[in-house]
Amino acid sequence: MGLIPAAAPKRATDLWYTEPFDKGWRIAFRIRQTLYSGESEYQQIDLFESESFGKVLVLDGMTMLTERDECGYHEMLVHLPMFTHAKPKRVLIIGGGDGGTLREVLRHPCVEEAVQVEIDSEVMEVSRRFLPELASGFSDPRATVVVGDGISYVGNAPDGSFDVILVDSTDPIGPAEGLFKKEFYSQCRRVLREKGVIAVQSGSPLFQPEVLRQVAAIFKELFPISCSYLSSVPAYGGPWSFTLGSLGPDPAHGPSRPLEGLKGTLRYYTPSLHKAALALPRYVEEMVE
Ligand code: SAM
Repeated sequence: MGLIPAAAPKRATDLWYTEPFDKGWRIAFRIRQTLYSGESEYQQIDLFESESFGKVLVLDGMTMLTERDECGYHEMLVHLPMFTHAKPKRVLIIGGGDGGTLREVLRHPCVEEAVQVEIDSEVMEVSRRFLPELASGFSDPRATVVVGDGISYVGNAPDGSFDVILVDSTDPIGPAEGLFKKEFYSQCRRVLREKGVIAVQSGSPLFQPEVLRQVAAIFKELFPISCSYLSSVPAYGGPWSFTLGSLGPDPAHGPSRPLEGLKGTLRYYTPSLHKAALALPRYVEEMVE
């Protein structure tokens, strides 16, 4: 992420992509050009080249990622659970159509297979075409990409078949709604191996407190160890939450193994941040108590 560029000159023809984030609050990116715009079977897909956040992927009018700050989301969704587990070999990703989560999982040399279940093949296609630095994992021999519904995939998966499960879904509307329900999470627990770990995106504590409350309460019921943690993703309007469930290792102990050997370079996750991210602001603690 570079320094904030000097303010661009105001032009009468300024084009902006604006996400109506909340009642009376919006986030806007000045855009240089639209790279893709199309309606898939599941959602409207737009990709913009923005002035200061790089490419911006938008699904149904909601910002999914920007090149500038996606590391704060993908690295924290992936590496906190992946380093909590002692040695994850088989990893399941639900959603994550842009490929960022898969890319991060495959940085771990201990991973033998990463299965990604994404309902909308068009999102992956757009990412392959326009976001190669995110979609790099799709061509990794360890990656198995399934186009399908994560709910039915997990429902049909054998007991104890994955070490880590990561849910990188859109918000709880439409096809993603069932991914935030207790039935799905208890199926995930069945599919986790002994000492398995699951982490899910659990929404904005500022604008979707009810999502975080619900997910944290379900995880507390289903897993012997559970916690929520935050990351900073400006394009999402500030802090973003993740919720982790563990059948064994405790994330509070920090990474279970050294980062050396990880492929490529990280831009966000660090061993000290692994522990620090578990410390929550008071208003968030109250949601997950
Ligand atoms: N980082 C983003 C966020 O926090 O909102 C999510 C990124 S990723 C693009 C979300 C993906 O979840 C989308 O590609 C969407 O198609 C996929 N998805 C939604 N519901 C799904 C389901 N039931 N099964 C599999 N994938 C699903």
